[in-house]
Amino acid sequence: MPRDHVKLISDLSELVEVFHDAQSLEAFLQKIVALISEHMRSEVCSIYLYYDNTQELVLKATKGLNLDSVGQVKMKLGEGLTGLALQEARAICEKHASRNPHFKHFPGIGEERYESFLAVPMIRGQTKIGVMVIQNSQRNYFSEQDIQAFRAITSQLANTIETAKLLMALNDRPTLPTAAVPAELKFIKGRAGSPGFALAEAVVIDLHHARLPAAHQQFPERYTLEDFSQAVRQTEEQLEDLQNQIEEHLSDIASLIFTAQILMLKDKGFMDGISELIQNGVNPPNAIIQTVESYTQKFEAIANPYLREKKQDVLDIGKRLLENLLKINHDGKKYAGHIMIAQELLPSDILKLSTQGVRGIIVLSGGASSHLAILARSLLMPMVIADTPELLALPPQTKVLLDAEIGNIYVNPGADVIKTFEQRNKERALLHQLKDSIAQETKTKDGTKITLLSNINLLSDVKMAREYQSEGIGLYRTEFPFLVRSNFPTEEEQYVIYRKLVDGMKDKEITFRTLDIGGDKVLSYYNFGKEENPFLGMRSIRFSLKHKEIFEQQIRAILRAGAGVHIRIMFPMVSSLDEFLEAKDVVLKCARDLAGEKIEHNAKPDIGMMIELPSVLEILEELAQAADFFSIGTNDFIQYMLAVDRTNEKVADFYLPQHPAVLRALNRIAKTAQKYKKDISICGDMAQDTRYLMYFLGIGIRKFSINSDCIPRIQAAIAQVDLARARKEAKRILSQVRVSETSAIFEQK
Ligand code: PEP
Ligand code: MG
Repeated sequence: MPRDHVKLISDLSELVEVFHDAQSLEAFLQKIVALISEHMRSEVCSIYLYYDNTQELVLKATKGLNLDSVGQVKMKLGEGLTGLALQEARAICEKHASRNPHFKHFPGIGEERYESFLAVPMIRGQTKIGVMVIQNSQRNYFSEQDIQAFRAITSQLANTIETAKLLMALNDRPTLPTAAVPAELKFIKGRAGSPGFALAEAVVIDLHHARLPAAHQQFPERYTLEDFSQAVRQTEEQLEDLQNQIEEHLSDIASLIFTAQILMLKDKGFMDGISELIQNGVNPPNAIIQTVESYTQKFEAIANPYLREKKQDVLDIGKRLLENLLKINHDGKKYAGHIMIAQELLPSDILKLSTQGVRGIIVLSGGASSHLAILARSLLMPMVIADTPELLALPPQTKVLLDAEIGNIYVNPGADVIKTFEQRNKERALLHQLKDSIAQETKTKDGTKITLLSNINLLSDVKMAREYQSEGIGLYRTEFPFLVRSNFPTEEEQYVIYRKLVDGMKDKEITFRTLDIGGDKVLSYYNFGKEENPFLGMRSIRFSLKHKEIFEQQIRAILRAGAGVHIRIMFPMVSSLDEFLEAKDVVLKCARDLAGEKIEHNAKPDIGMMIELPSVLEILEELAQAADFFSIGTNDFIQYMLAVDRTNEKVADFYLPQHPAVLRALNRIAKTAQKYKKDISICGDMAQDTRYLMYFLGIGIRKFSINSDCIPRIQAAIAQVDLARARKEAKRILSQVRVSETSAIFEQK
């Protein structure tokens, strides 16, 4: 069968169109089966959804089978070929389905004629979503290539189908009671969420709590059902536009931000709820507010974290509908050139604000590692998080200076503060200009080649890496797309992201660090359970090895994306040789599986590990023989070596990169790597601090992975270093034993 069905995977616009035409969630699923059967040239395509409470699969949409069986045909896990595919989490392909002992005949469904059968389970992380099935009357119809393509399509659509499933299930639930919500300042110390500076007039936007007026609020105008329908159409168009725009710029994180909202507009329960109220005489704005409120209450009351996340989507869609109905703020540029202050923002708000030309953002809630901060960073939007509610009362046109490099906010800043700010801004601009003076190669004073690579979090960071002529990616923190999304990205989604990265870096070295979640990087949709010490808990490689299905999906995606190029895979937080070997085995197994499935992939990636734990010091020799390379994550290495929580302000004075134990350990690691001729680099923040450069070069480190905008500064500093002197200096440093002594040495640098 021709390969053109793979087109569906990358062509999101086709999917957006499916959204566009569908009148309800059920109709949306019907559209999907029609689309797939067309792409796969199968006579039948069906979606079965799995329900945990009844442990049953239910036929929810079909093209080709009897439509009356939708909602009627049910099977237990393991029952029939479809139930078996889900139970065993594998694709089942039968040339002659009725001959398989597992085949189960459902009278009236009309599948007798279709002997060729292919079922692919939809599983996301540990959640069973359902099964997608295609069938054909011609025996032996599906080829190996079809299985691959169908699997890819299923994987790409699983998330959207799951959202539809959650929304449909929600309509069946009873409404539950809800929970309630919550001068002149000169200087406020907040936390930097996303770096940068801004000096501008502030605008307070109360998007969250006041985003929807009280349900009983009187609106001066009386609107009609037709006005509401018009607002729905407008909302839909806006969302589709946003979806397409964002897809272009931030495809790794944003592709799901709007699909959930578009689906809300297809949700009959939600839309009919509003229409019914309007037909019963409620003014449309009040009808929207009431319905949104009842939905947010339902979401709040449900333990499933997926659904709690979706509460934000309902609020957002409600706000959008309301604004379109009331024709509020449609010049789109109202906030241009301003600093926005908000209690809370949604990811879509920040995307919208950034396209409107907002200079900076202050939010009162949301952690520095929140979705919001990550999005702000990739959008290059300065952001400070400051839990100071008085900020919400700032009078209009108040001037605010935002120093998001360190998290400071100055209200009505004096001339001296502005002067310092301007000075620092100039320095920043100069740093930016340095970009133009970057040399092709980084060399020490005596001409030794040093490699400077980039650390990246999101695909959008690749642009900067290229601008700063980075020699490659030394650390790709793959968890960021996982953190921003509302559930585990599928293999296919990850593949698309990783392939874009590979294409974006054109033959340069790329090191994929496998999922490093846990600790301060929790996933909103995964219940880690309460951990007293999350940094010592179920994080990083421990998580991946515990959840092999998630790990394997990621490794398969990386290997597939690495087809035809040189890639490196490294594991975070490895504590033992056993752990490293177990993780390496997973990579080898995935490569074998892909070969068996005849899927293009990289069969021989370099497989290395991060050095972040002190335990590995005593088994370095053995690890050096097992691993292809080492990369030292000093951020964690210092934390674990010195038992200092890297996120705890109170013990920040004990976090000492210059501690002799840390320095001697780094030397030991470097020497062992050299002995076994293993590639070694440093990718923690210490590599960005020029004070330690001489030492690193002195102990033999020749490769650093840093933030791209640090490249000019580090390159210039390296050019000043003479290696013979660096070796001597390293020796002197290694002979010190007291923190006070090493601190004194580095203070002078
Ligand atoms: C490190 O620990 O130094 C590192 C590079 O990884 P992360 O900062 O992502 O923990
Ligand atoms: Mg780390």
